Amino acid sequence: MTQPNPMSSRIWFPLAILVCLAIAAPLRAQSNDPNHVLARAIFKQLIEINTTDSVGNNTTAAEAMAKRLRDAGYPESDIYIGGPNPRKGNLVARLHGTGAHKPILMIGHLDVVEARREDWSVNPFEFIEKDGYFYGRGSIDMKSGDTFLMMAMIRMKQENFKPDRDIILALTADEEGGGSNGVNWLLKNHRELIDAEYALNPDAGTFQMIGDKKSMTALGASEKLYQDYDLKVTNPGGHSSLPVADNAIYQLAGGLVRLERYKFPFELNEVTRVYFDRMSAIVGGELGADMKAILKDPPDAAALARLSQKPYYNGILHTTCVATRLDAGHANNALPQMARANVNCRILPGHSAEEIRATLVKIVDDPKIAVTLSAGGLGGGANPPSPLRPDLMGTLEKVSSEMWPGVPVVPVMETGASDGAYSRAAGIPTYGISGMWMDPNEDRSHGQDERLPVWSFYAGVDFYPRFVEALSSGR
Ligand SMILES: [Zn+2]
Repeated sequence: MTQPNPMSSRIWFPLAILVCLAIAAPLRAQSNDPNHVLARAIFKQLIEINTTDSVGNNTTAAEAMAKRLRDAGYPESDIYIGGPNPRKGNLVARLHGTGAHKPILMIGHLDVVEARREDWSVNPFEFIEKDGYFYGRGSIDMKSGDTFLMMAMIRMKQENFKPDRDIILALTADEEGGGSNGVNWLLKNHRELIDAEYALNPDAGTFQMIGDKKSMTALGASEKLYQDYDLKVTNPGGHSSLPVADNAIYQLAGGLVRLERYKFPFELNEVTRVYFDRMSAIVGGELGADMKAILKDPPDAAALARLSQKPYYNGILHTTCVATRLDAGHANNALPQMARANVNCRILPGHSAEEIRATLVKIVDDPKIAVTLSAGGLGGGANPPSPLRPDLMGTLEKVSSEMWPGVPVVPVMETGASDGAYSRAAGIPTYGISGMWMDPNEDRSHGQDERLPVWSFYAGVDFYPRFVEALSSGR
């Protein structure tokens, strides 16, 4: 990008050679694999394109990736960019296969969470390699994953690989917020472009490190559904020197106490059943025995009680609803005319937001408390677990064991949510397969100085093309 100054070309050239040598030496020491060099360039380019909702531009990133695909040999007719407004463009690209099966869709979001320069020790929108890490907003969430998907598309094209079905890439907007979620927009406006037998999403299903040890290759096959509810009591109010029996605050408080005491039923699905079965062998001891014991029919009540005391396992075993905000009254000397609470629910797959609303009405057990769905959920539809397809599980186990022998593949249910919620709700089973190794305690996504170990990035760059080719090789 720097143009040599013609006035100083004699000096510039030798200097340039020296500089190139100085830069090239450490680069070569890391990796001279041309795929790594290309992946690093794509990763750098993505991180340096600001795609925040406030001042960024998703379309710029989508267009940059489209150009990379064109350069790799994709014809214009197999590339689409579109979105609800000029800043929120989504990219869809297609590699044609033999058509023996329905396509595989790969989704990745291009947008990133806001990052303020003053909060970071480095510029969040400058790609920096330092102390064995790549720094930058999106280095974990998820411009690394976008790069893995890009590399899969580019390598398959360059190798003239003919998959047994079309492979579709969608790089999209507004997973992290903003009002123009790209997966949702594509499903509603261009379903034909991304319709698939199933989808892969590197935004979920971490390849988990514990310290220096690779503990598991997680396959995210399920997610809980996020939904807020508004619990509200209204009342004519009056003078506080003349209390009446009807009091909005007491009525709401009574309902919230009943909610506190309620426990949603224990429930396993295909994914969490296999998760606890495999985890019981990995963790062993009393905890492992408890995990085994809840798989019995009926489950061991004492084991279930012990596991449910741990917030993470409790969240996997139950729908949870918890009061998170409270607002009531308008003056110290007035009876409250209004009392309201926000109740945040994380709903087990297979249950709809409306079904849980009806349950909340029963739990609070007071017709004065109105229970309504708040805006901001993912649409309120059910988010069914994706079936543990033997072909997908088998291929993941095979590729994982070739690359990282002895590391188990474990299907997981995420207690958080990703774009997979949209595609699952639309009937496209979706699997979170990260490709990127990470210790959850080292996870700086959404935070300051977000960074990814260099080796972990290249592991994903090597994994994804190999994995997608194995999935679609017709074997
Ligand atoms: Zn993400």
